[in-house]
This record gives sequence, C-alpha cells and structure tokens, in this order.
Amino acid sequence: MTSLLQDSAPYQDAGLSTAERVADLLGRMSVEEKVGQMLQLDARDDLGDHVLRRHVGSILHTSPERILDANRLTAQTRLRIPLLVGEDCIHGHSFWPGATIYPTQLGMAASWDADLLERVARATAEEVAATGIHWTFSPVLCIARDLRWGRISETFGEDPFLIGELASAMVRGYQGDGLDDPTAILATAKHFAGYSETQGGRDASEADISRRKLRSWFLPPFERVAREGCRTFMLGYQTTDGVPITVNDWLLSEVLRGEWGYTGTLITDWDNVGRMVWEQKVQPDYAHAAAAAVKAGNDMVMTTPYFYEGALEAVSLGLLAEDAFDAAVARILTLKFDLGLFENPRLPSSELDAVVGSGAHSALNLEVARRSIVLLENDGTLPLGSSAPLSEVDPIRIAVVGPLADDAQTQLGDWAGGSGQAGWLDGQPRDMITTALDGLRAVEGYAVRYAQGAEILTLEDDPLGATFPDGQPRPKVVVPCEPDPRMIAEAVRAAEASDVVVAVVGDRIELVGEGRSTATLELIGGQNALLDAVIATGKPVVVVLLASKPLVLPASAAKAAAVLWAANPGMHGGRALAEILSGAIEPSGRLPISFARHVGQQPTYYNQIRGQHGNRYADLTQSPTWAFGEGRSYTTVEYSALALVSSALAASDTILGEITVTNTGSRPVLETVQVYVRDTVTSVSWTDKELKTYRQVALAPGESARVAIELPVADCTIVDAAGVRRVEPGAFELLVGPSSRDEALLSAAFEVVG
Ligand code: BGC
Repeated sequence: MTSLLQDSAPYQDAGLSTAERVADLLGRMSVEEKVGQMLQLDARDDLGDHVLRRHVGSILHTSPERILDANRLTAQTRLRIPLLVGEDCIHGHSFWPGATIYPTQLGMAASWDADLLERVARATAEEVAATGIHWTFSPVLCIARDLRWGRISETFGEDPFLIGELASAMVRGYQGDGLDDPTAILATAKHFAGYSETQGGRDASEADISRRKLRSWFLPPFERVAREGCRTFMLGYQTTDGVPITVNDWLLSEVLRGEWGYTGTLITDWDNVGRMVWEQKVQPDYAHAAAAAVKAGNDMVMTTPYFYEGALEAVSLGLLAEDAFDAAVARILTLKFDLGLFENPRLPSSELDAVVGSGAHSALNLEVARRSIVLLENDGTLPLGSSAPLSEVDPIRIAVVGPLADDAQTQLGDWAGGSGQAGWLDGQPRDMITTALDGLRAVEGYAVRYAQGAEILTLEDDPLGATFPDGQPRPKVVVPCEPDPRMIAEAVRAAEASDVVVAVVGDRIELVGEGRSTATLELIGGQNALLDAVIATGKPVVVVLLASKPLVLPASAAKAAAVLWAANPGMHGGRALAEILSGAIEPSGRLPISFARHVGQQPTYYNQIRGQHGNRYADLTQSPTWAFGEGRSYTTVEYSALALVSSALAASDTILGEITVTNTGSRPVLETVQVYVRDTVTSVSWTDKELKTYRQVALAPGESARVAIELPVADCTIVDAAGVRRVEPGAFELLVGPSSRDEALLSAAFEVVG
C-alpha cells in the first residue's frame, strides 16, 4: 500500500520539473529522513544500519558487490530515495579491479594538455558510470607548496593558471554533456580551499593564510570551475584563522555562494564534523558540531555517523529548527533527480566488461603516459641506440637496476588498487601493467640484465597504536632499509657487463598520501648508495625518478648521463618510458612543479612574492634543481623575435604578439611555449612573474613557426590591499620562452594606460 502510494506521488513523476519533484519529496520527509539524506557513510561498514536506520543519502568506498546490496536495501525504504554512490576515481576508476589507471594528476599535469585530460576524465566517467558509481571526488585543485606534503601527487602542481586549465578540462570530461547523459558523473572540486598551505608539510595542519592570499592564488582555480558548473565542492580539513573550513562562513557563504553565485552541492571531507569535536576540539559535542555544520551551509556530511544523532539532538535542544536541513536536502535531491536516479538508479551495467579497461581507454592511457614523462637532463646518451642501427646480432646491453624497475603496483601511485584506501583489492591485475623492466625488455635490439640493487623501507607499528581516535588506521612508521652490499655488488656487476645503466629509483606508497608527509625529500633506503655505486663504474647511467613528487637525488647524480621524472606514470608507464629511452617517441613533458635541491629550500615554487634580503642562503642557492616549466627534448629549440602589435594598451584590450620558435636540431619536437607576465611595480607586494597562457607547437627538424600570442589585458591582474582583483595601469613585461627561468625568457615591454 505504501509502495503504491509512493509510486503515484508527484516526486515519482518524471514528467515534472526537478524543482517540483524536490518540493514534493521534501514535503513528505521526516526530520530523521532529512538528516540521514545529508549523510554519506562508508559502505564497508554496516550497510543495513546506514540505509535502514540512519536513512543515508549517499555511500562511498563501495565494492562491486556492495553496490548491489545497497540498492536492494534502498528498495526497502519508505520513500525509496536512491543512493548517490561516490568514489575517489582520481586518475582512473582507482578501486575497480581491471579499470584503466592513468598517471597521477601530477603526472598528467606534466603534459600541459587540457584536451588530453578532458579525454581522460571522459573515459574515466564512462568506466565509473558503467559500474554504478555516480560521483567522483576529483579533481584536486590544491596548489602544491611544501613538497614534504604527502598529497603533492594528487595536485596539478604549483601554478594557479595551469591548475585552472586542467581542472576545468577534467570537470568537463567527467560531467560530459549534462547529467542526463548516462555516462556523466558528478565532479568534485577539492579541497576548498587552502588545504595545501601546510605548516612544514604536515597534513591538514592549520593553514596560516590571509584572505588576500587566498584570493590571490588559492581561490582562482576554484572560482573558475564554480562558475563553469562543477556540481560539487569538497571542503578541506584544515582550520584557517582558527576556523575549520567546514564552518568558515566567509569562504562558504560570502565568497562561494555569494560572490560566485555557486548553487552546487557542498560535501565535507572525511569526518570534518567529528574532527571539530575529537581532533580540533572547537566543538564540545556532536550536537553542537552538527548544528554548526548545518548552519554554515554544508549539504552532505562525509563519514561522521554521529552527525545523525547529533543533528537530531541539536533539534531537540533548540540549536537547529526542524526546517534547518531543507536547503541542503533539496540540493542533494536535485542532484539525484538531475541524474535521473529515480527512474534509473544506474546499477552496474551488464556491459561493463566492454567498457572497464577497454582497448580504447588503454590506448588513451598510453598516450597520456607518453606525454607525462619529463626529460630533465641528457648528455646525449639518450635516445639509446639512435647512433647505430639496432640489430639482434649486436644488441645494446642495458643493466636495469633499482627497486622501482619492476614494482607494478608502486608505479600506479596513490589512489589506485594497491594504495590501501579500499579493502577489497590488493592491486590492479599485474598483466595490465608494464613496468620499466617489462618495457625495456620488449624493445628490439636491447639485451637487458636486471638487478634490483636496493630495498627501500620496512614498516613498524606506530607506538601510539593501530588506529586514530575515530577508528581510522594510523599509518605505520617507515624504517628506511640499510644499503645491502650484496645487492649493490650484483647491480655493479650488471652495470659493468653492460653498455648503459637504467636506474629506476623513487618513493613507495608508504611515503605518499594522507597522513604520510615526509620530513625529507631524499631517496631513502639503499637507493643513494646504489646510484653512487653504479655511477662510480663510469658507465653512462640514466636515472629514472619514478616518484610521486619531486625528490632530491644524491650528489653523484650530477654525473648521470640523463635524468627523467616519471611521476607514477600509470599502467603503461614502463612502455612509454622505454619508447622515450629508445627514441621511438620524443620526450615532451614539462614540469608542473619545481624540484628542490635540498629539503631546506622549501617552498621552492617559482611564483614567490618579491622582496627579501638577497636571493640565496649562506650555504645554498635558492634556485631549484629544475624549475617549473622545464623539460627537454631530443632536439634543440630557439626562441627569437618576440614582437608585440602594440605596446600601449587599455585595460579592455588584448595583448597581441608573435614569437619565432625554431627547431634547430634533427628530431621533431612538441614545444610548450610559455607566456608569463611581470607587473613591474605593484601597489602591494606581488609575485615576480606569473604564467598567463601557453601554446603547444609541433615542429619538424629545421622547422620554424611564428607563434601567435593573445592575452587579454584583463588577465594581468593583482589582488590589491583591499582584496580586490584588478589591473593596475603602468609598466609590464611579457615574458615568453620554454620555462619559468628568467634566463630562458625573452621579454617585451608594454604599458597599460589608465
Ligand atoms: C580525502 C579526500 C577523499 C575522501 C574520501 C579524505 O580523507 O581527503 O580527498 O575524497 O577522503 O575518500
């Protein structure tokens, strides 16, 4: 009888508008059902309790079987409101066995190719949607600052403009042509805002950051995707000025909802509401914490089960009115109606095997892996085998050494099958992954000899116990391994018997991710000793840094023949790497983030604020080893004849210019022409230069192109002392070249007339 009644209720009528359906359904919901609708709980816990007792609106971390269980449970509820199923599918459908796992976000950012990332997000959405998941907690718009932070690999790097370009592309890719498209999924811009401004890289520590600083660099990428219709925003963990972001009225109400007119849905991060009680200790109990979260405008509360009891208690204590939940619930129901879940809960598709890990997605994955690898140094040793034709009779003897040369799951990085966030899989199928060793062994004309050469780490229990107060697992303590003389000797023998050494070193998942910031940036375990030993053989050594984030190589690496960075390059990383090393394809990645020489240089991002005494430490330069924008190719490129059409412009004009870019070598190149702006004098301190646009240009050997530059003067802004973003008339410089290094840039002066 109940069921018949609900079937004929207006909210079940697909012919009505979303607003009409929401209003009808909201009117039928009890206060308990409304509070539950605001909750997203962990599907690995008691699903029956979540759905039937706490009336949850959403679940996350749902294994393939549990998606079906959850839907069976929803069918037993009074109003049969479908669940929103969320997951961290942040570089592919991370926790679905056999899904396509792409390079990490930081790796993909090295392509500087927004269209490519949009295609990756679209392909990911197809896989995710086919498996009954509606919502990905991606992309991450945090700016990389202190490299010790464990979550650097989840970012697009250190530049707000590049972050905005790539994030916008991924949001478009996920959300597709509109939520009624069955392959569209909800995107999440996270973590709003300032989470990465850590203290000493410590995860989720207080972010000491002014509103002006937020507006200057942290907020612009978020503003862009908010205005472009990213359907959800996730709030960071940290407090700023003493206030947790979850209850930061200025950021949520004044800026996001007010100034930017954002009408999407806000979700807290993991137990943000509970953390105000047990971690940050700014709320006395769950009733007060729940009341504060609701009043601040949060819509969905992630994994704070006691939000349910707390919010109901807040009502009985008079801290919240009964209708206090309506706006949030309306926004959540709007998502569900817009996705069409009441008509089609989008259960796992019977054709999912044809979509998940498909051949087309695998091809795209290889394409992005090739574009994600950055060549940092090369004395001409690379490509390997270009000077003499490869033949089976006289193969090139390659010693492949290093603990990451054949570590398939580590290669995938964080938020992938083996990274530990989901309990139902240990990793992705080995046969879907090509390691560096696999890739090099497959190259015709290479004779490969392998020696691991070093161990990286072992783990010990944290003396403080296995779990945090909320029951979440405490990461184990990393104990670096000592160099092992026998392993090193074996690697040295392999090196001595070879023409060239490829040493694959870096970090492991235990040094990456949430709660896993590192105090140092050096290679740990036996890796430095291994590099020292193989470099000391005098053989040319190609160092492949397979690392989640920029690390510091030992001094011996200055004598390496070549250095490449492959930032967790995904399932086809080893093949892409072998193709680059052998010269089958050209290296084209450019750094989205600067590499420090020493951990003590933190932070090393290029766009720092002008003004300090001197420009170096007494004992070290401040210059990074490799700077934002850098990356080599197998050819040489020259920039010349930068010219502007006009050098006196009004604020409403567009800067028009041209530069000649010439491939002066003998191999093709995909050159990333970077355009920075320097505002010569500003009313308040500002960065010395900022990336404003870029173009990627393919040039054949000997080819020259006149590359057009177009940049609205309106983009040449600063944020003034009052926090207002504006163009300040006066003298500027347009800086164009292959990286953010001053010495690499040509300059043209222009004047903005007031
Ligand atoms: C992370 C988020 C993630 C969420 C759900 C949190 O701990 O900070 O980025 O989306 O967990 O897994």
